[in-house]
Amino acid sequence: MIKRRKTREIDVGGVKIGGDNPVVVQSMTDTKTHNIEETLSQIKRLADAGCEIIRVAVPTEKDAEALKEIVKRSPIPVIADIHFSPRIAFTALESGIHGIRLNPGNINDEGKIREILQECKKKNITVRLGVNSGSLEMGILEKYGFPSGEALAESALNWSEFFEKVGFTKFKVSIKGSDVLQNIEANKIFAEKTDIPLHIGITEAGPAGRGSVKSAVGLGILLYMGIGDTVRVSLTADPEEEVKVAYQILQSLGLRRRGIEIVSCPTCGRIEVNLPEVVRKVEEKLDGKNIPIKVAIMGCVVNAIGEAREADIGLACGNKSAILFKKGEPVKRVSEDQMIDQLLKEIDNLEI
Ligand code: SF4
Repeated sequence: MIKRRKTREIDVGGVKIGGDNPVVVQSMTDTKTHNIEETLSQIKRLADAGCEIIRVAVPTEKDAEALKEIVKRSPIPVIADIHFSPRIAFTALESGIHGIRLNPGNINDEGKIREILQECKKKNITVRLGVNSGSLEMGILEKYGFPSGEALAESALNWSEFFEKVGFTKFKVSIKGSDVLQNIEANKIFAEKTDIPLHIGITEAGPAGRGSVKSAVGLGILLYMGIGDTVRVSLTADPEEEVKVAYQILQSLGLRRRGIEIVSCPTCGRIEVNLPEVVRKVEEKLDGKNIPIKVAIMGCVVNAIGEAREADIGLACGNKSAILFKKGEPVKRVSEDQMIDQLLKEIDNLEI
C-alpha cells in the first residue's frame, strides 16, 4: 500500500485536491482557445475519457475573452494557462474560470502577482503556482549555476512563502524540470518541507510511446513515494491519450481504477493461438469503456489457469481453443474463432 503525503485540501471548481482525496487527472486542450466550439468539443471528449480538470492555453486577449462561454458550457472545471501577461490574467479572472496557472518567474513583477492573488481570493479562484526549469529567477540560477532539483525546489518554496505572506493559501504547486531525475529531486525536496498539494507531471515527455514510458517512470516513482495530488501526462499526442496513460499509471499503483485492466502474457514458443490478435481486438472493443474489471488473456496452461482465476473474466488458451473463466470459475471451452465474441458477451453479462 502506498502511504500518501498528507497535504492540505483545496478545490478547483468543486473538484477536491489534496487531503484524503484521490489523485486527480488533468489534461490540456490543444485547440486554439478562441475557437470556442472546437475547444468545448475537445473538453467534452476529454471529460468522457475521465479528465477531471481541464487547462486551456490563454496566450491572447481573444482567448481570455472566449473563456466566459467555455466555462459556462464545460462539463469540468477550467484552468486558464497564463504566461508573461498580467493584463491577460486580469481578463481571464473576469470570465468565471475555476483556476489559473501562473509561473511567477515569467511574470516577474511581485506587485502584479500580489494584485492577481488578491483578485483570485475575492473570486474564490484556485491558483496553480508553476516553477519551470526554463523560467527560474536570476538570483537562484546564479546561486546554483543551473536549474538543479534543489534550485527548482527553492524557487517553489520562495514563491509559496510569498503567496502565504500576502494571505493567499488556495494554491497548489507544480515543479517541472526538464528531466526525470531533476523532477523527482525537486518535488521530493519541496514535499518534505510543506503540506502544499503538488501537481506532478514530466513536462515535454515526448511522443506517445516514449513519453508514456518516461511519464510512467517519473510519476510512478513520485506517486510511490506518496507525492502527487493531481497529475498530467504530457504527450505529443491527442490529449485523450494523456488521460488514458494517466489512469494506467494510477491503476498500476492501485491509486485509481478506471476502465478495464488487461493481463496478458508476452507469448512464447508454447503458444497455440494467435494471442496478440485476440488481445488487440479485445482491447479495441473495450477501449474507452469505463468498466472496472480485470481481464486475463493467457497463451497456454503455464500460469494461465492461475491468472484467469484471479481475474473477473479470463481466457486460458490451449490448442486452438480456450477455457473461459468467470469470477474464478471455468464456464466453458470455446474455439479460437469464437473466443473474442464469447469473452465480450460474458463481459456484457457481468454484474459490476
Ligand atoms: Fe508462453 Fe504460456 Fe507463458 Fe504465454 S502463458 S508466455 S504462452 S508459457
